[in-house]
Amino acid sequence: MTATEALLQLTRDGLFCPAGRFWIDPWRPVERAVLTHAHADHARPGSERYLAAAEGELVLRRRLGPEARIEAVPYGAEVDRDGVRVSLHPAGHVLGSAQVRLEHRGQVCVVSGDYKAAADPTCAVFEPVACHHFVTESTFGLPVFRWPETAEVVDELHAWWRGNQEQGKASLLYAYALGKAQRLLASIDPSIGPIWTHGAVENLVEDYRGAGVPLPPTRRVSEAPDGTDWSRALVVAPPSAHATPWMRRFGALSTAFASGWMALRGTRRRRSVDRGFVLSDHADWGALIGAIEQTGAQRVWVTHGYREPLVRWLEEAGLEARAIAARFESEGDDR
Ligand SMILES: [Zn+2]
Ligand SMILES: [Zn+2]
Repeated sequence: MTATEALLQLTRDGLFCPAGRFWIDPWRPVERAVLTHAHADHARPGSERYLAAAEGELVLRRRLGPEARIEAVPYGAEVDRDGVRVSLHPAGHVLGSAQVRLEHRGQVCVVSGDYKAAADPTCAVFEPVACHHFVTESTFGLPVFRWPETAEVVDELHAWWRGNQEQGKASLLYAYALGKAQRLLASIDPSIGPIWTHGAVENLVEDYRGAGVPLPPTRRVSEAPDGTDWSRALVVAPPSAHATPWMRRFGALSTAFASGWMALRGTRRRRSVDRGFVLSDHADWGALIGAIEQTGAQRVWVTHGYREPLVRWLEEAGLEARAIAARFESEGDDR
């Protein structure tokens, strides 16, 4: 086994570090897991032990259950696993999201997990980590994906909310319950009107507050008294609540979805919502390329999403690039 193979391999259970005998975001329950973050396609319950970033411990526990054995370490702290030096570094994706840095016999490998470069008031900013071998996500790995400035998107959202108020309509905003919903709540102006949440969003809002992230006051829709006037309200709910009886209580309403997928023509219509806001917790094409260059890595593995275009681009730039499988992949709950 070469020094590189000893550090990281793709196995049928996912990314494995043979020298340290642990998996990163394993696809099945294992003995020792290192987790990049709490989204369902990365954090699966049932493993014996987990290592994860301390900032995300509360949200991770909600995913893994109260009995999960989680060793929570601060960003940058080094942990020894059978001679492999392991440390976690901010990925800027959601609260507690981490890149995993492995060092063994002079070789350094970094597994990005999901990441973004854009500013997010609810989590630590992405930190480039120098390495020989970088494993990058590529959820939005196509040149057509170029995110607008977050401030512009938030302005559009405010205008939509105010416009709905003038027409006496509730504003129902769909956003992934972990990460996107809290980022939106932290970014919007709460003086415009009352903010209500679906239970799936509010549970995680509580975890974020518990971790010290300031968020504006919110109330659970399920606790609204009969006869509540929704016409000035912003309601934040997961996309799964769309077109369910749950949304009938709001009367006249306008619906919107905040997601990177809204950059693709036709997505809003397919989702049958009135408005789309382009806001993603993943890197766009330019940010992917920028992040990879910043690592200085010569070997790059590309996983999740649009892999081949990024692999070709990297090969043309003279790097050794390879697309690797992602066992659990869907439009998921974090885009
Ligand atoms: Zn994610
Ligand atoms: Zn993911």
